[in-house]
Amino acid sequence: MTGPLTAHAVRAVDQLPVRLGGEHMPRRPEWTCDTCPDTDTPWPCPPALVRMAEYHGGDDAALAAYLGALDIAAYADQPDALRHELRRIGPAR
Ligand SMILES: [Zn+2]
Repeated sequence: MTGPLTAHAVRAVDQLPVRLGGEHMPRRPEWTCDTCPDTDTPWPCPPALVRMAEYHGGDDAALAAYLGALDIAAYADQPDALRHELRRIGPAR
């Protein structure tokens, strides 16, 4: 995949360590959490969602846009999985 959508997704992934404080980061290309005790925990795990929601300060639209960019990155890594999972979870409240 090329173009602005890919650049947007790459930027979103690059911002993850800041938004998550370096914990509950996605393992790629599996998109499972690298911090939760269960190594199969799909990312975003609940703590990751809480941290991202806190980062956005309740701005659900911004959080949804950010998750959408990550969705593109997950899709690039693994076209057949996790896209659905990211969509299902959506913005935390
Ligand atoms: Zn986690």
